[in-house]
Amino acid sequence: MTVIKHDVLVIGAGLAGMRAAIEAARNGADVAMVTKLHPMRSHSGAAQGGINAALDEEDSWEAHAFDTVKGSDYLADQDAAEILAREAADNIIELERMGTAFSRQENGRIQQRPFGGAGFARTCFIGDITGQAILHVIYEQILKLGVTVYEEYYCTSLIVEDGVARGVVALPMMTGNLTPVQGSAIVMATGGLGRVYSPTSNALACTGDGMAIAYRAGAPLQDMEFMQFHPTTLKDSGVLMTEGARGEGGYLLNKDGERFMEKYAPNKIELASRDVVSRAEQTEIDEGRGVDGCVLLDVRHLGEEKINERLGQIRDLAKDLANTDIVYEPVKVRPGAHYAMGGIKTDVHGASPVPGLFAAGECANVSVHGANRLGGNSLLETIVFGRRAGEAAARYAKEHASPQPLSESVLQRDQALMSSLMERSHRGDGGDRPAVIRGELGEMMHHQVGIFRSREGLASALEKVRELEKRYQSVRLEDTGKVFNMDLITVHELGFMLDIAHTMISGALAREESRGAHTRRDFPERDDEHWLKHTLAYDTPEGPRLEYGPVTITNWQPEVRTY
Ligand SMILES: Cc1cc2nc3c(=O)[nH]c(=O)nc-3n(C[C@H](O)[C@H](O)[C@H](O)COP(=O)(O)OP(=O)(O)OC[C@H]3O[C@@H](n4cnc5c(N)ncnc54)[C@H](O)[C@@H]3O)c2cc1C
Repeated sequence: MTVIKHDVLVIGAGLAGMRAAIEAARNGADVAMVTKLHPMRSHSGAAQGGINAALDEEDSWEAHAFDTVKGSDYLADQDAAEILAREAADNIIELERMGTAFSRQENGRIQQRPFGGAGFARTCFIGDITGQAILHVIYEQILKLGVTVYEEYYCTSLIVEDGVARGVVALPMMTGNLTPVQGSAIVMATGGLGRVYSPTSNALACTGDGMAIAYRAGAPLQDMEFMQFHPTTLKDSGVLMTEGARGEGGYLLNKDGERFMEKYAPNKIELASRDVVSRAEQTEIDEGRGVDGCVLLDVRHLGEEKINERLGQIRDLAKDLANTDIVYEPVKVRPGAHYAMGGIKTDVHGASPVPGLFAAGECANVSVHGANRLGGNSLLETIVFGRRAGEAAARYAKEHASPQPLSESVLQRDQALMSSLMERSHRGDGGDRPAVIRGELGEMMHHQVGIFRSREGLASALEKVRELEKRYQSVRLEDTGKVFNMDLITVHELGFMLDIAHTMISGALAREESRGAHTRRDFPERDDEHWLKHTLAYDTPEGPRLEYGPVTITNWQPEVRTY
């Protein structure tokens, strides 16, 4: 058995993965990235609005940390939120020195726009293509450092021997031959899970793979019930209209032309935190004041010049996908599934409870976002905690380098699964096609595990996911070839999605309170006495087993949250 071997293996090549790889390489490790997409196609490249840091003399990292904690509805671990905010400025300056062309003020300093839930205009941006611009710069560093990239290698599982992470199993799409990849430390950086919902703002590849891989290998997933619905996504496609549109001064209107957010958040209006704005929009729509199941995002008063300079990409997207030119007309938007607050539980160095396994970025839960993430804090998390995880992984790899080769048996489980899929499909006795199950899953999550939840809806979701899991056992492939078998990858991803959805539903059903993005109609209040705690989901043959863990409070006792 030929085995590829490196000190540090990073799974995923978005901003978190690449930032981790850079730091591990700088710390002397031999680093490789395993990625199912070309790095530049990672979802980080779709980020529009910006990245937060307190740069202005009148702002402070403490204010940023407080806004983050308040935004999280007090579920964030405050030590982690402090690190995020404190390390932000240096990381932005480093990105700038690497060559990121941040939008500027007249005086040459980095321009910052106000974002939801923030007490200061602290979101740095490059027009509305922030993620794309930073991804380019970070990728340059990867090339410069000579990090090995296994591109279009789809990771199927984590290799754990004697309780220690030793590598991953990957499927190079080009050959279709399962391959073990050995590493002394593994950093999971596989991004989000938005595709569990339909519609979503997330790219097709955001299927929660790394979360499911870690979960199956014994790592706990934390706070999976918290899913962020972004207030401004396009009606049918779910494509995002950046929060920057409101940051630049855009209005939200109902069918009567009323700026309805004045009722729900009299101080911040459109720039309340995302959970608040999404609930308000859905309430307007449910009570008959929507337009076509949407509300209107109006930026006409900003004028064509500013729209082109700051919001050019979303002008194009709205024209192409909603047939609306935002210079002349408001565009219909509604809340859409956008960001997973939950993920693989880690400490502030990215270490998970499984020795040798680290995680960073959207697939991780440090936890800085708690029950609701602030816009601009996720890109920041990829950079700050990607860096930290890369450094810690390099250190771990140095201390735990094992010359011992992997045993022959590591491929068995994956090989058995692949062969049974192929055989069933050759015999033609399979059941549903993956798209059918995926469609039903997305729709069920949208309706029952959406902005407003209830015991009844969540119980039916639980039943449905169990039914889908059963049907998945006989899912049918049509492509039984080896080379670039995307049908096989889709089927495999669907298995991950079902596992992940199950943890989200179980967590949501158990949590009998409303906090941040998790709103229970039957338990409308936040209940700190019983629920100021993290949910931990562990994999068992019967489905997730839930445990609970403490929230770290440093400076800020929970208060009533208003905007
Ligand atoms: C449309 C949109 C706009 C956004 N705008 C903003 C914004 O303005 N500001 C902000 O702070 N946040 C924003 N976010 C959120 C933010 O962009 C993401 O949370 C963040 O970029 C995630 O980065 P990541 O590195 O964790 O994952 P990603 O960038 O998603 O990268 C994941 C990587 O993992 C790899 N991968 C996944 N599964 C496997 C597998 N099984 N095997 C091998 N490789 C795998 C992929 O190939 C990819 O390289 C936005 C998100 C979306 C969807």
